[in-house]
Order: sequence, then C-alpha cells, then structure tokens
Amino acid sequence: MRPRVVIAGAGFGGLTCARALKHAPVDVLLVDRNNYHLFTPLLYQVASALLDPGEIARPVRQLIRPLHNADFRQASITGVDLDGRRLLTDRGPIAYDYLVLATGAQTDYFGNASLAERAMGLKDLDEGLALRNRILSQFEASRWSDDPDRRRELLSFAVVGGGPTGVEMSGAISELIRLVLRRDYRDLDINEVRVVLIEAAPYVLGAFVPSLREAARRSLERKGIDVMLGAKVETVTENSVRLVGGEEIPARTVIWTAGVKASDVGQAAHVQLTRQARIKVDPTLQIPGHPVVFVVGDLAGATDPANGAMLPMLIPVAMQSAKLVAGSISDMVANGGARAFGYKDPGIMATIGRNSAVAQLSWLHLSGFPGWVFWLVVHLVNVVSFRSRLVVLVNWAWEYMFYDRPVRLIIRARP
Ligand SMILES: Cc1cc2nc3c(=O)[nH]c(=O)nc-3n(C[C@H](O)[C@H](O)[C@H](O)COP(=O)(O)OP(=O)(O)OC[C@H]3O[C@@H](n4cnc5c(N)ncnc54)[C@H](O)[C@@H]3O)c2cc1C
Repeated sequence: MRPRVVIAGAGFGGLTCARALKHAPVDVLLVDRNNYHLFTPLLYQVASALLDPGEIARPVRQLIRPLHNADFRQASITGVDLDGRRLLTDRGPIAYDYLVLATGAQTDYFGNASLAERAMGLKDLDEGLALRNRILSQFEASRWSDDPDRRRELLSFAVVGGGPTGVEMSGAISELIRLVLRRDYRDLDINEVRVVLIEAAPYVLGAFVPSLREAARRSLERKGIDVMLGAKVETVTENSVRLVGGEEIPARTVIWTAGVKASDVGQAAHVQLTRQARIKVDPTLQIPGHPVVFVVGDLAGATDPANGAMLPMLIPVAMQSAKLVAGSISDMVANGGARAFGYKDPGIMATIGRNSAVAQLSWLHLSGFPGWVFWLVVHLVNVVSFRSRLVVLVNWAWEYMFYDRPVRLIIRARP
C-alpha cells in the first residue's frame, strides 16, 4: 500500500505541497474547513466592491483535478493525535503516514474583548463580504439620518494597522467612496466622510525601507486618508475608537488588521509553540520528536538560517516551505532523509490604490506609478486561474476607465 500524506489546510502551503507531490508514490488527502482556495492578496478588493469572490477563490476539488493521487475532504481540524498518527476533525479522525500542517494564521485581538466583539477582521471570504456589506449599508443608513453627527459616525471608517493589509484596505475604501459612491449618492456631503488609518509605530509599512514608507504615507494622504501615527487603540465602542491617552475617534466601522497569530491547530496539537503561537520546528520543518509531521507556511515557527530571524507570514515562504517538504517526503518514502529549509526572498510590495504602489525587490525600489504597474502585473500573473485572470483584468480595466465598481451589492446569506 502507498503511504498516505494528509495535508491540513488547502491554502498556499497545502495546495503547493499537494501539487509538488503529484508524481510521488503516495496518496494525498487535503483537508480544509472551506471548499475553496483563496488568493488573499486581492481579498481587500472583494471587501471594497471591486471584485466578486469567485474571481479570487477556486474550489479545491477543481484545482486538484489534474492531481491523480490527490483527494479532498471538507472538515474543521480540531487537533492532532501525534502518537496514534491521526488528524482529528469535527467529522472524525483521519489516519496518516505523513502529516503536513498548513492551517495558516488568524486575526489576533490580543485578548481585547471590545476589539474582538466590535472590530471587523479581513482574513477570509466571509469577512471580506461582511465588510463589503457593512461599508455599503452604512451609506444607505446615512441617508435616513438628519443628524450630521450620526451621519459622520456612519460614514467614518477606521482602519487599525499600517501594514500592507491596512494600507491597501484604507486606500481602497477611500477610492470606493471618493471615485464611485460619491456619484451614487448625489446629496452626499464629502466632508461628512472620513477614512482614518491608525498605526502604533511612527511610520506605515514597517517592513519596507524608510523612503518607501514615506512615499506610501504621502500617497495615502493625497487620497484623502487621515494617517494617525504613534496612535494605539485602547477600546472600540459601538460608535467610536478610543486611543490610549484618551482621544476618541467617532466611527461605527472599525477594521482591525494590526494583529495576527497562527491558527489554533498549533495549540490543539499540544506541541511547543513560539512567537505568535507558531509551531516550533526543526530546520527541516519537522516537529521535534515527530519526524513524519511537517509544518509549513504561517503556522511554522521557522527561522531564516541567514539571519536567525523568524520567517515572515508571506505567500513565498508558504510556497517555498511546501515545495521543500514535498521533496523531503518523497525522499523519506525512498528511505532518504528530510532537507533543511532556506528562504529565497523575492521582495515585498503593497498598493495604495490607483496609480500608486511600493515595491522593494532587493536593490530595486519602486513607488508611485511604476510600482503600481509592477504590482498589477505580479498579481495578475499569480491570480488563481486563467479564467480569473481574464475577469480580474476586465474588472480592473473597467474601474480604471469608468471609475465604476460593478459589485456594489449588499448580499446577506441566510444562515
Ligand atoms: C488580506 C490578506 C492579504 C495578504 N496579502 C499578502 C500579499 O500580498 N503577499 C503575501 O506574500 N502574503 C499576503 N498575505 C499573507 C498570506 O496570505 C499568507 O502568508 C499565506 O496565505 C500563508 O499560507 P498558508 O498555507 O500558511 O495559510 P493559508 O493560505 O491561510 O491557508 C490556510 C488554510 O487552512 C484552512 N484552515 C485554517 N484553520 C483550519 C481548521 N481548523 N480546519 C480546517 N481548515 C483550516 C484555511 O481555510 C485555509 O484554507 C495576506 C494575508 C491576508 C489575510
């Protein structure tokens, strides 16, 4: 019988690992709580009514159709029985010969109950759609109020966290409002609308070089966003954000992008965790003492051998680690050993919106229009499928030429 490789999570790490095992003499089973694989870099465009969910996500079963040794089961992973070699799920246990844990990361509210209860996250399609509904609903609700203070609360959007997701989200909301909704709501007083980006550090985009951070900040301000630096959120109430120091920002919509930690599967596996609840792994990405269990992507607490720093939670890390682990499993099946992981950094980028992005690719630093063109090309090439690529391109071109976002629909799925 062929060894069974169970892969927990069908995100960037899990799917890449399954694909890299295509020709290995093993049977692969992917397990995910969702039946789709999500292209996270464009999630903010779903939340800001530019793209439809189907353009950035694909059913896992469709993606693995070309892999004749792979199958899929939809289930929520609840733990790992390391001694019994079983992945535990809400549908029952799954026996494995090799296990790859790739369940990614989740929003971290740092134990702040008001944040967890009232702030909105942006991690998966459900949250992206909830945010789109919320933004559009606030505009509709604002038309029913004669009280300018209440309208200001409804039309104020606070984005917390000046990393790439916060920067991209605030830029996209501002453009949705200023370029599109402003024309839908002819009686809208734009002075009642506010998009504020709140960041605890004295700069945005901390992973970038200072010149690109500064270029991003200027670009955000040009797009009408209030950038508040050195500002820490204390609590979120129904209609405001309170900062440490007492300042209160009226806003009924608060988007939290300032904290991330590994998925709960690490904790549920009862193994040693490192920073951000990531699983401590050997340089080969195996869990110490459990050589048939590997961890890839955001869940892996792996360090970069080049500088000893914890590897960032990024797609290239997930994909490169998954390819390495697939190679190690193939070698182990043939009685070889596991390989050590080394990360090749392809660079980082973030877009602020129309005609503006920053990209940092070793010695090459781009900002403004050249950065934006580079960002567009890289994202278009990497979108999930050829069909998505075409539809996304048409939507982007349409928006660019006509200042229009076609998916301004408030849709409530019935439970
Ligand atoms: C909004 C957003 C934008 C981003 N933009 C970028 C970007 O531009 N560039 C970049 O490099 N990185 C970006 N990232 C980070 C990037 O998405 C992650 O680093 C990458 O997805 C990690 O891959 P992974 O396989 O570890 O996890 P993921 O791709 O997140 O996959 C994890 C999978 O596990 C599943 N899962 C989780 N828990 C369970 C459970 N208990 N049971 C069953 N299934 C479970 C999830 O449904 C998911 O399918 C972004 C992230 C977000 C949220």
